[in-house]
Amino acid sequence: MTRKFTFLGTATSSGVPVLGCDCPTCTSSDPRDRRQRSAALITLAAGRILIDTPPEIRYQLLQVHATDSLRELPIRAVLYTHHHADHIFGFDDIRGLCRIIKDALPVYCREDTAQFIRHTFAYAFDERLAAWPPGLVPRVSIHCFTDGEPFTILGQTIVPIALEHNMPVTGFRLGELAYLTDVGSIPDESWQYLEGVRILILSCLRPEKPHPGHITLQEALAIIERIKPQRAYLTHLGHEMKHARISQQLPAGVMLAFDGLSFEF
Ligand SMILES: [Zn+2]
Ligand SMILES: [Zn+2]
Ligand SMILES: [Zn+2]
Repeated sequence: MTRKFTFLGTATSSGVPVLGCDCPTCTSSDPRDRRQRSAALITLAAGRILIDTPPEIRYQLLQVHATDSLRELPIRAVLYTHHHADHIFGFDDIRGLCRIIKDALPVYCREDTAQFIRHTFAYAFDERLAAWPPGLVPRVSIHCFTDGEPFTILGQTIVPIALEHNMPVTGFRLGELAYLTDVGSIPDESWQYLEGVRILILSCLRPEKPHPGHITLQEALAIIERIKPQRAYLTHLGHEMKHARISQQLPAGVMLAFDGLSFEF
C-alpha cells in the first residue's frame, strides 16, 4: 500500500515571514522561505489523517483539494500533537471536513488537549446545536490516547510518543516514519519507540541560540545522529532558517522541509 506524507505547514508559531521583519529570510523571494504554521497530512488508501489544525488550515487544505480532491478521499481523523495556538486555532474549520463526510470527525489527542478543546471551543459541544446539519459547527468525537499505547486509524497503527516542550507534546510513529514536532527534548522512556525509524520528521527552531521549548539545529542533528534514519526532514522552522543557506550546512540525508513538500513512504 502506498502511503503519502505531505507537509501542509513548516513554520514555527510566528509563521515566516514574521510580521514586521525585514531579515533576509522574511524578505526572500524563495517560495520555500514562506512558511505557514505546522501541520501535516497522511494519505492512506482508505482516507486521510490530518495532524494539527493551525490557523491557516483552511487555506492549506484548499491547496491540497485543488489537485487532490478531499471529496474523493476525505480526511477521516485528526491527530493533535498539543494545544498551543499555532497547532489548534484552526479547529473551527473542522466543520468543513464534517460537511464532506456528513458526520462527526474523530479527533485523537491527549487528555489535557481534550479538556482544552471542550473549554475553548465549547460551542462545538453545545447540545442545543446538536440537531444542526453537519458543517455549521465543528462536530468531533474525541478519543484520548496514552503515550506508548498504539491505536489504529483506517488500518494504520499509530504509536503516540511523549516529548518534552514547554508543555507535554505527542509525537507519532507510523511504521518506519516518525513525526516529532515542538521538541524541547526526548524523554528517556521515549527513545525505545524511535528504534528502526527510517524517515524522521523533527522540529528545529533555529541554528544555535538555545530556547526553553525548542531544540536548535545542533540539538536536532544530535538526535538524528542517535536515531540514524535514512532520511530526516526538519520542520517547525523559524526565520533564522533561510532555506538555501541552511540547506548547504546539512549533512547528507538531512533536509529542510517546506510547505507542500510530499513523499511516499
Ligand atoms: Zn508549535
Ligand atoms: Zn525575519
Ligand atoms: Zn508548541
